[in-house]
Amino acid sequence: MEKHRKYIIAGNWKLNKTAGESVELSESVVKEVGDQSNVEVVLCPPFTSLDAVSTALEDSPVKLGAQNMHPSASGAYTGEISAEMLRYFYATYVILGHSERRKQFQESDAFINEKVLAAFANNLKPILCVGETLEQREADQTLEVVDTQIRGGLVNLPEKDAETLVIAYEPVWAIGTGKTATPEMAQEVHASIRNILTDLFGDEVAQKVRIQYGGSMNPGNAKELLFQPDIDGGLIGGAALDAKSFAEIVNAARALEEE
Ligand code: PEP
Repeated sequence: MEKHRKYIIAGNWKLNKTAGESVELSESVVKEVGDQSNVEVVLCPPFTSLDAVSTALEDSPVKLGAQNMHPSASGAYTGEISAEMLRYFYATYVILGHSERRKQFQESDAFINEKVLAAFANNLKPILCVGETLEQREADQTLEVVDTQIRGGLVNLPEKDAETLVIAYEPVWAIGTGKTATPEMAQEVHASIRNILTDLFGDEVAQKVRIQYGGSMNPGNAKELLFQPDIDGGLIGGAALDAKSFAEIVNAARALEEE
């Protein structure tokens, strides 16, 4: 099946793994995934593991990402990390606006927007997460919620940056719960996200943006999700903590790429 966007499979390790454990896991991922370039593979360990994982990934095609950052370059923000600090370890991607941060740390679309702009200003590509809660889905507000999060997160984003953006559609009710959106449910939201991007940046740019699905993606459901026309990858939580499971998801994308 030919898709003109390259699949991107990213592992979000969340608050898991010491630096030592992170090196072990990254080395196993590199071994399992192999030396391939058909699918873009990204690992997002905790901040404290970035240095060690960066070194572990040095001679491999697997890329490094972070799980968050502060929009400011420096200053009185105890406990925070800047884009420049991430770039120092050769991070390529940064997850922004994950639902856990929106909920537990009250991150607003405006604050996430500041981070998106700061990431691009420092050559980091954001993986912007959006998605509805179960309550919002049941109230039929999914498309409206996602629309607000995308438009709010991308204010003042230049077109030239937009095409390298990655969006992760992650229904909150599917994250870490073992419940997955059906491929049809996910495709409907992904298509509507692409329409919003067309409205914001034009069709040419919108066609280049990769939209990942996230929410209990695993080796058993990856293929049918990734098969959907507007699903261009996965943001993987739980299954990314096991190198074999993670590599199986990468291989599912690879098989579709080669079909
Ligand atoms: C996530 O937190 O980004 C995620 C998708 O988690 P899980 O795969 O565990 O649902």
